[in-house]
Amino acid sequence: MRTGYCLECHEERELRIEEREQTFDVRGEPTTVMADVAICTACGAEVSDLELDDRMLGKLYDVYRSRHNLLSSREIATLRRRWGLSQRALSRLLGWGPITIQRYEAGALQDNAHDAVLRQVEDHKFILDLLSRAGGRLSAKEQRLLRERAVSNRRDQVAYDLGQAVKNIVDPDSTAGVTGVERGFRPFDLDRFKQVTLWFARECPGLVKTKLAKLLWLADFAYFYENRLSLTGLAYARAPHGPMPDRFQLLLGVLEAEEVIELGEETVGPYTGEVVRAKEAPYMDDFQAEEIMTLKKVASLFGGESAAELSRRSHQERAWLERGNGEIIPYTEADALSVFKGFWGEE
Ligand SMILES: [Zn+2]
Repeated sequence: MRTGYCLECHEERELRIEEREQTFDVRGEPTTVMADVAICTACGAEVSDLELDDRMLGKLYDVYRSRHNLLSSREIATLRRRWGLSQRALSRLLGWGPITIQRYEAGALQDNAHDAVLRQVEDHKFILDLLSRAGGRLSAKEQRLLRERAVSNRRDQVAYDLGQAVKNIVDPDSTAGVTGVERGFRPFDLDRFKQVTLWFARECPGLVKTKLAKLLWLADFAYFYENRLSLTGLAYARAPHGPMPDRFQLLLGVLEAEEVIELGEETVGPYTGEVVRAKEAPYMDDFQAEEIMTLKKVASLFGGESAAELSRRSHQERAWLERGNGEIIPYTEADALSVFKGFWGEE
């Protein structure tokens, strides 16, 4: 049972908790919240309770914050943790009193000037600039860790922006919600293209670009053959040496810019080709078991063949023969491909 000293009764009394509308001035502005208050059960007067008062103050500040569009305590803590900084380290870096951030995160109200600065903390450019101007306020280790985080955040941002731009170029229809049989009924998915490329690059060492193009085509069409859905949402066009992902050069350039693959000249026997090397492992957790099975099947059946052999195979297919260069090959052609005869075990 909660008890407290009632100023009306001049006695220690039993208290009950009741939610009441409370209005107080916050920085000179009347502010109203619904808050739990302690009531004397004998006379009905409100009795001050430290814990409840604290909670109410937090609510009043939250209302004031949202009215003035100020960051909440939680938002400030999130901004700080994003960079792995302690409360003290961020205070020091910003040139504020040592416990300023600690107070804000505990609920104290920041002024507009500090709020404006805190909002910038979200931006890696602000952090990098701050490091170059005032990095000395941090220890060498703190500086190094913060710089690493900011640089990696910048890289992620660049990759994200690039990915969005490329998606708009490669598959403008999907922005309008249109996905046809040209993409196997899946909107182009840059991440899936990336992971499947990394997967083949790992499975087939010395993978040349033209061979990758055909393995992607085989995997997408094989999966469509069984499931009426492509793996990557890539569209394929007829090229002189066989089917080729639409905008293939651009897409490989994106993976290169993201530093997940490396393109290099390599001579294998009589051939010189541009080799795709993976710089990281594929992340396949977002793929279903049947999807990975398809990739394995394509790698085991065709991974050992050269780009020239795969090219010759594709030249026997109606999908390639009956089209002009640059023409898109719809996924429905998967049904007529002779390479898939026996692919799924049937005769
Ligand atoms: Zn009382």
